[in-house]
Amino acid sequence: MSLANAKVSIEDRGFQFGDGVYEVIRTYKGRPFALEAHLSRLNHSATMLDLTQPYASAEWTNHVLEGITRAAYPEAKIYIQVTRGVAPRDHAYLAEALPTVVMTVREFSPLDRSIPAAGVEAMTMEDIRWGRCDIKSLNLLPNVLARQQVKQARVFEAILVKDGFVTEGAISNVMVVQEGAVVTAPEGSQILSGVTRAVVLNLALSEGLPVQERFVSRSDLYEADEVFLTGTTVEVLAVVRIDGKIIGDGCPGPIAQRLAARFTNRVDSPLL
Ligand code: PLP
Repeated sequence: MSLANAKVSIEDRGFQFGDGVYEVIRTYKGRPFALEAHLSRLNHSATMLDLTQPYASAEWTNHVLEGITRAAYPEAKIYIQVTRGVAPRDHAYLAEALPTVVMTVREFSPLDRSIPAAGVEAMTMEDIRWGRCDIKSLNLLPNVLARQQVKQARVFEAILVKDGFVTEGAISNVMVVQEGAVVTAPEGSQILSGVTRAVVLNLALSEGLPVQERFVSRSDLYEADEVFLTGTTVEVLAVVRIDGKIIGDGCPGPIAQRLAARFTNRVDSPLL
């Protein structure tokens, strides 16, 4: 149906409490990239919140493919949201609540090529999120506030720092290159396990690059040979300036460029 005809009750718990989960998937050449990994993360998020999953993976896949076909955009961004459904407002929920499911398919416009070619600027910010960032929940207030600061500062992304250590970006994962190794925060409750993160770490390993999953400090970030972001919308994107400090020689570094090129090859044969 058209967006204008899609309606959700004001008693929906997604609206009342942000009580729900979501996923964002994009297409390459009209095919959803790493759909299985996104659906598996959706399942993780839902399970961790004791939320009834409305569909099995095969049913989700059919809906996503149908949405892409019917929308018929050159490239699409698919947004999936599952909430704990409609109930009179009460923090506690009924186990049998029927989930509300929303899927939108919109045209996706990739970043202009000049952006990855030049690299982007980021700013660090205190990570004020809750203790279960592995769950892709609708509660995005800290990310909303961080992205607004990013917009006002006219930079590209917020790099979040918790207790002195870099967790991730507000909409991306963060990787640094130190002495030839690709270093990124370990999976766990402090970060979202990015689908792109996993693909890029595998590409790094297949390129023979050492991969270390450990936290780095804010000063490690400033002193890194390279810093780059990974994510569904940003792919592999070099960061050349952080908090006004130049990273490396101020241009996208050789490892970020190599991984970005490998990533581009990889998405030409997406997993379904
Ligand atoms: N971290 C956060 C907080 C995000 O919101 C996102 C994506 O939206 C990512 C990381 C990157 O995840 P993915 O590569 O699955 O898009």
